[in-house]
Amino acid sequence: MKDAITCNCCQKREAIISLSYSGLDLCSQCFCELFERRVRKANRDFAMLRRGDRIVVGISGGKDSAAMLHVLDKMARRIGSVTLIPVLIDEGIAGYRPKTKKKAQELCKAHGYKLTIFSFSGLAGKRLDQIIKLRNKSKNPQFRTMGACAICGTLRKYLLNKAALRLGANKVAIGHNADDIGQTFLMNMLRADPEGVSRFGPVSENDLDGLTVPRIKPLIYVPERESAYYCELKGLPYHLGSCPYSVEAFRGLVKDFLNDSEGKYPGIKFNVLKSYLGLRMQLAENDAKSAKKPASNKCEKCGGKCSKKVCRACQVLEFLEN
Ligand SMILES: [Zn+2]
Ligand SMILES: [Zn+2]
Repeated sequence: MKDAITCNCCQKREAIISLSYSGLDLCSQCFCELFERRVRKANRDFAMLRRGDRIVVGISGGKDSAAMLHVLDKMARRIGSVTLIPVLIDEGIAGYRPKTKKKAQELCKAHGYKLTIFSFSGLAGKRLDQIIKLRNKSKNPQFRTMGACAICGTLRKYLLNKAALRLGANKVAIGHNADDIGQTFLMNMLRADPEGVSRFGPVSENDLDGLTVPRIKPLIYVPERESAYYCELKGLPYHLGSCPYSVEAFRGLVKDFLNDSEGKYPGIKFNVLKSYLGLRMQLAENDAKSAKKPASNKCEKCGGKCSKKVCRACQVLEFLEN
């Protein structure tokens, strides 16, 4: 039998996780402290939580949002006068959403919150399952070639923003982790869409008319694998298992590439994140120097922030009407 490894941090307790990118073996307590420190660092670096904030916390029933709610709840208590409002978007996927909804409800109850639910049916009169059937039959090539995740993600983002406006929230917290950010960055690069770099990120800017609520991503420094560990160690309810529509093919490819690379060269994922944050900062500095405002229009239909005439969500809603 192998000897137990002692935690590199406290030098006392038995290590339960090995972080190959840093060479550290950590015990449960030191690992959870590191996890929470990373969320606090994101908060400091990007000024996410402020006294007086009313924050809609996007809850999916999965590991990332479970870990996010748990840590944000701790931070909100410490900062004071921060209200968290957990919101779940029910897109309507039979056999999947009911299970995740149950876990999300358990999670909220355990933390003393009520879970508010908004649904695609309420927004578009149709569940995602029905929307996908319509897409498959659609004669519009623009609609027919849209991936399920693109449709779902677009409507989800739109609905979460609507929820925040209705609930009087001034921020929306999203459980995107370091892996998600790295994948999106690489996807932007591979599509030669450097503009995309300023479209997503740890925090989004407020718009002037207040129709687009700023988004914050407190898990930006947290590797995906570690939020599952954190949930396990803290006994947080979460649903394990992925959406039946699975990941977008292109994202899946980039995800596999990053996972394989990380296995061979530990630390690669953090390097991608670092490159992204560096580039984002440089772009912001250039914009500030040239007094250039990043291109931002208003959607003709909903008034939300948008880079074209009509935002993607309104476009999907139009596809559904026709
Ligand atoms: Zn330790
Ligand atoms: Zn719109």
